Amino acid sequence: MKLDYQNIISKVYTDIIAKENFGKVPSYIPELACIDDNKFGINFTDLKHNSFGIGDFEEKFSIQSISKVFALSFVYEKLDEKLWKRVDVEPSGSAFNSLVQLEADCGIPRNPFINAGALVICDILLEICNNPKQELIQFIRDLTGDQQIFFNEKVAASELENSFRNAAMCNFMKSFGNIKSQPDAVIELYCHLCSIEMTCKQLSMSFLYLANLGKTPSNDLQILSSSKAKRLNAILLTCGFYDESGEFSFRVGLPGKSGVGGGIVAIYPQHYCITVWSPKLNEKGNSYRGMKFLEEFTTQTGESIF
Ligand code: GLN
Repeated sequence: MKLDYQNIISKVYTDIIAKENFGKVPSYIPELACIDDNKFGINFTDLKHNSFGIGDFEEKFSIQSISKVFALSFVYEKLDEKLWKRVDVEPSGSAFNSLVQLEADCGIPRNPFINAGALVICDILLEICNNPKQELIQFIRDLTGDQQIFFNEKVAASELENSFRNAAMCNFMKSFGNIKSQPDAVIELYCHLCSIEMTCKQLSMSFLYLANLGKTPSNDLQILSSSKAKRLNAILLTCGFYDESGEFSFRVGLPGKSGVGGGIVAIYPQHYCITVWSPKLNEKGNSYRGMKFLEEFTTQTGESIF
């Protein structure tokens, strides 16, 4: 029987919006704390070009760590497997901004989705690009098939003024030789990467290459080889939700990525991407309603990668 995704999505949305919205918006990036914390949007887009949304799915929000997936894809395609000498592919089991493992691991971050890992990816971008910000944003626009994607300079500046932990990590990794450029330049690029704004609809579109063996279904751009796309999905499954990655895999059963702006993108390989946005975060830094919605969605569809 063919599933009626639209119907399932609106039912789950109605159920969740009727219940209390727990969690809090992050206060350590002041510009993010200004958001209306009852925003709630969902978009579903599949490889057959079906797309539908509900709630605030066409409103732009700060994608924060979701952008780490784009930066990793850009760098992975250029560096190939030697990338993994500078960043590992193991779940960290600790918070996204934790410093503790870096000393024992000699400045090699556990994976590219914790902050330390994304800082190393930004350092590589500075090495391989003439104009990293411009090349990265253009890469994201091209894979989304939408030129209306921008950095939010206010959010970038707000994070930059308060990036003491990220600065500590970056300097610490520099002491091990795993950061080549000046830490200030790496952090400035990192804060811009986190400040990108997109809608749920744009995010679902942009992630379709990971559902489609590395190729964008709308304009046939081979963003990653199929083998690399498979590996990237594996890292998303094991590391996409920091120290809640096991829980997401257990409850939802799809590779995905969250950000402290309250967005979550999940991928059902060969089929679709679904994006949820709700700004209140649980204690692990993942969207409270986003997690609930996706758990209920895959329960009702009966579909997951397992
Ligand atoms: N910009 C945020 C930070 O560096 C990103 C964290 C996140 O989305 N998990 O803390």
